[in-house]
Amino acid sequence: MKDARHLDANELLALVSPEHGEPAGRVVRHTAQCSPCRLEVEHFVALRNRTRVPAELPGEAALLRAYGLLRSATPRPAERVRYARPRLVYDSRTEAAVAGIRAPAPGRHLAWRGDAADVEVRWNDRGPTDAGVLTGQVLPRGELAGAPVGDVWLEQRGLPVEWCLLGPSGEFTLPAPHGRSWRILVRWGDLKLRLAP
Ligand SMILES: [Zn+2]
Repeated sequence: MKDARHLDANELLALVSPEHGEPAGRVVRHTAQCSPCRLEVEHFVALRNRTRVPAELPGEAALLRAYGLLRSATPRPAERVRYARPRLVYDSRTEAAVAGIRAPAPGRHLAWRGDAADVEVRWNDRGPTDAGVLTGQVLPRGELAGAPVGDVWLEQRGLPVEWCLLGPSGEFTLPAPHGRSWRILVRWGDLKLRLAP
């Protein structure tokens, strides 16, 4: 079936809030024939009406919460070749080593610079009761047309993929990675990035 793929966050947004863009024909067709997606849409509209702030646009937080119900599938290998690899320009751990600091500050801070966007992430070390949280921000160099929200994935060897929503401000939150072998994938409209330490 041609329209078998479920709606992603941006398609759903286009469907339920026209101010974010006209839904594509595929979106309308798919929703008409897919009851799980129809349920998502109904749920989203209900949630949106319940949490709607007085203004015409729904609050960003309400949208993000609604989107949290959705999860985008990891990009396929064929798709990944189009992901740009921004250059790592700062790593707090390396800086500490270069400066000869034996006990570097806890946590980690990394920054990448790319042609289309810069990205920064930081997290604190995991504690015995604390899993550690990574916060990050994507800073595009230009306007991103038709992409109010995006997707961020964290892939780590031997662990399930973590996914989160990239908000309209470019901010995201994921569990802190552990080990050396991890990568972050960002998809935000046309912006596609692959980040590694
Ligand atoms: Zn569907």
